[in-house]
Amino acid sequence: MVYPTSNCWLLGHPVSHSLSPLIHNTAFNYLNLQLQYAALDVEGLEVGNAITQIDGKKVLGANVTIPHKQAVMPFLDELTEVAKRVGAVNTIYVEEGRRMGHNTDVEGFLSPLKTVGLEGAEMIVLGAGGAARAVLVALSYGLGAKQISLVSRDVDKAQRVCDELECGSPASYDQLAKLVERAGLVVNTTPVGMHPHVDESPIPDGIHFRAGQTVYDLIYAPRRTRLLKKAEREGATVIGGLPMLIAQAAASFKIWTQQEMPVEIVEAALQDHFEKA
Ligand code: NAP
Repeated sequence: MVYPTSNCWLLGHPVSHSLSPLIHNTAFNYLNLQLQYAALDVEGLEVGNAITQIDGKKVLGANVTIPHKQAVMPFLDELTEVAKRVGAVNTIYVEEGRRMGHNTDVEGFLSPLKTVGLEGAEMIVLGAGGAARAVLVALSYGLGAKQISLVSRDVDKAQRVCDELECGSPASYDQLAKLVERAGLVVNTTPVGMHPHVDESPIPDGIHFRAGQTVYDLIYAPRRTRLLKKAEREGATVIGGLPMLIAQAAASFKIWTQQEMPVEIVEAALQDHFEKA
């Protein structure tokens, strides 16, 4: 494969829909950094070859997305504690000649929760896939949450994830109504409600929210999912996936450039992108 002459990459398959090139290139251009970010569609073991090109000089690092977040781990010299705990890498960088694997989804997820009071709250995470792992680690080890229910269509799978991460308790969708009644925070990490299936919701209409609860949907297209519209109507505080998307990118950006991402400029570029789409 011929690798592009860019300085930061996204390694994934597929990658054509990704907003990461827009986010990072907007920030690079605004700060006049003379750097370029490119998405590389790599399959299978090709991801390992791509990683050998990350030298910390010409290629500063990479983001990693589906399906490679776990597959890249053996190709790296070291993992940060966060990446080890999540069991997945979304950011590669070079430190003292060593290729490091980190996970900025944890920090990105927590960023919009900074102003929400959740002390002692019971929490629900819907879906036991890749993003749920970062969310569980963030809630348990970042916020110190004690009662987290991991709701899955496959309770055995949820049990395995909870055992591996040493946090949360598995639950089924049959228990959802009772769990929502008691919850302070509900997080959707399933793709249900994502464009183009915008009329779907992971929570049935008969289950209601109320003021004092926070509903956080990781989906960012659309910006307000059916789940969030309902939660908002019923008085809950709602958070969409875009702040997390930007915050996890800003954390990678800072690692590669030691500079703060100009978040308002990036938000404006994304807004412009969504209006044109
Ligand atoms: P994933 O690994 O495929 O996991 C998604 C999980 O959702 C699945 O493991 C499954 O869990 C559940 N699920 C899938 N289809 C379902 C259905 N039809 N009904 C009910 N549950 C279903 O994907 P991911 O990487 O975790 O991403 C999940 C979502 O989060 C996507 O929409 C993605 O765009 C979003 N995301 C956003 C950000 C951000 O920065 N905002 C970051 C990462 C991901 P069970 O089998 O356990 O039910």
